[in-house]
Amino acid sequence: MIVHWHRRDLRTSDNRGLARAAASDDPVVPLFVLDPTVLEHASPVRVACLLEALSDLRARYRDLGSDLVLAEGEASGAVPEVAAAYDADRVVWSEDYSGLAQDRDRAVRAALEDDGVAAESVHDAIHHEPGSITPNQGDHYSVFSYFWKKWRDREKRTPADEPDGDELADVTGESLPSLADLGFDEPEPTPPTVTTAAARDRLEAFCSGPIYRYAEERDYPATDGTSRLSPHLKWGTIGPRELYAATERAAEQAESDADRESVRAFQRQLAWREFYAHVLAFNPETVTQNFSGYAEPIEWRDEQDALEAWQAGETGYPIVDAGMRQLRAEGWMHNRVRMLVASFLTKDLLLDWREGYAWFRRMLADHDTANDVGGWQWAASTGTDAQPYFRVFNPMKQGREYDPDAEYIREYVPELADATADEIHGWHDLEAAARDRIAPAYPAPIVDHAERRERAIETFERARGESSE
Ligand code: FAD
Repeated sequence: MIVHWHRRDLRTSDNRGLARAAASDDPVVPLFVLDPTVLEHASPVRVACLLEALSDLRARYRDLGSDLVLAEGEASGAVPEVAAAYDADRVVWSEDYSGLAQDRDRAVRAALEDDGVAAESVHDAIHHEPGSITPNQGDHYSVFSYFWKKWRDREKRTPADEPDGDELADVTGESLPSLADLGFDEPEPTPPTVTTAAARDRLEAFCSGPIYRYAEERDYPATDGTSRLSPHLKWGTIGPRELYAATERAAEQAESDADRESVRAFQRQLAWREFYAHVLAFNPETVTQNFSGYAEPIEWRDEQDALEAWQAGETGYPIVDAGMRQLRAEGWMHNRVRMLVASFLTKDLLLDWREGYAWFRRMLADHDTANDVGGWQWAASTGTDAQPYFRVFNPMKQGREYDPDAEYIREYVPELADATADEIHGWHDLEAAARDRIAPAYPAPIVDHAERRERAIETFERARGESSE
């Protein structure tokens, strides 16, 4: 027998690790391990997504005449135990690039080798693995545009085949635990549907129209202009090659250069995901430490009230609050708004990006260490190819520009349902009496943006050692 250990590749098709295992003469035992160390870092919404994706995966294996074997415990103990129970002489898995995953995999590999079982890992989650796209000097790019040029021109693999039923072992899996069995409460956000069928529906719908408007519409949160495939990419309910092939077909069917460019703009975002995976793989410490050093520590504030107002979507900055409430309701937030709320936390409130990251990690269904750390450090001006520290987003202007009719804001901030777009975008400049009249339940701005912008720039300049004091 040969074991395929599923981790973030919760699908049977376009799964290179599974295909590799199925290519051997031995029947494949599909395995998932509920590892307490991994669950310790999880949150209710993500565990809910995980359980749904596992249930979907199991159903597919049952259709194919097999099943998903579940084991509980530290992976370094559980994987060798399952290998021994099925008399397997090889275990295959797909690489995961975070520091925690790498540590775990090293321990599993060592334990398997002790038992005389071969361990084999393949690259599956991204097209081009860390170390395969490099500058002349160094192991990874720090500037995205250079990375993108190489990524774009590099040939992509075609989707891997789903195994046939006769390549899979005739096994019976244990029943899946519930959220409560695993010690988690019901999630606050409603989890998205994380199954392969949902991913394919989303991909097909996106590639049949919105992908051609993506370049124009992707920044407007009130339009359904992005793919919303991020939870699927996080859990691996769709394969990156299947996704890319669909975008290439869309490019072939494009009716104009502008349409083709729009497909390219989408592929460019897919490359950001791989760029950050490379950055994290070579800099695992950036989960907790700034990627770019400053001469002095940044003087982050310690203001619990401000943090709680931000988390609750009660800052009195409508576009920020809409985003934070979307996050709590859906476990997802539009990218433009993620950038805005992250800028607001780290610049206007001068709170440590790690506070924001911790909250996102808890609330996002698509939390992905590489992308989340990358996004936060970008906004905090501490990351690789980050927003320069002196460019502080103005939340009123951004609201006016990207949600001109305030449709997105009204959807998530019902207190403002009867306010006009001008009143909403000018909220910061209204007199207190006017605010009371228009939307008495909605808070006044908790800070003055212009003042806070100055304070942030001065603080970052001090950290850079540029202060005149
Ligand atoms: P689309 O626009 O349809 O893009 C398709 C895919 O490309 C996305 O699903 C994602 O895999 C990738 N992608 C798009 N934009 C980016 C980007 N800027 N960086 C990296 N990959 C990108 N993305 C996550 O997947 N998980 C996270 O935990 C995460 N945290 C973030 C935190 C902050 C502070 C910021 C600013 C961004 C974060 N992002 C994260 C990136 C981005 O916001 C999401 O990938 C995107 O909003 C997901 O929606 P979508 O699938 O509709 O994206």
